Amino acid sequence: MFEKFSLSEAGLVAQLGHDGRSCPHSHACHGNLAIIDASGFHSVSLAYCECGHPGSSDIAVQLLRLSWMPVTVDRPRTAVTLAALRLFHKLNLQGKLNAYDFYHALGSLTDSTGLSIQMVRGQLLAVFNCSCSGSSLGQV
Ligand SMILES: [Zn+2]
Repeated sequence: MFEKFSLSEAGLVAQLGHDGRSCPHSHACHGNLAIIDASGFHSVSLAYCECGHPGSSDIAVQLLRLSWMPVTVDRPRTAVTLAALRLFHKLNLQGKLNAYDFYHALGSLTDSTGLSIQMVRGQLLAVFNCSCSGSSLGQV
């Protein structure tokens, strides 16, 4: 019998580093970062670069370098991958799929029972809605 668990539950902590290298003074993210990807929802543990040395950058910039759009700029707890935003953009344009239904479709990829899916957050829906309002995600 198999039991599903995340890499963060297995102890993996991904270090974001600065300027393409690992940071000797990284700071562990408080709690896990929820990632919304085209493949579903994921939970990862991250260590941010916060040393302030040359080459270091803001946490939001560190996430954007991974092609992850943070839902909030200050101490993000959730990020959406650009792959998920591109998929939503295409589905919205071709099939008029709304952000709420897209979010729940991704949730069903992660857990088809829906028992572990969190409620939709307003900020998250704002990210998806912004991706459809004249952005150029198709050119990213
Ligand atoms: Zn650093």
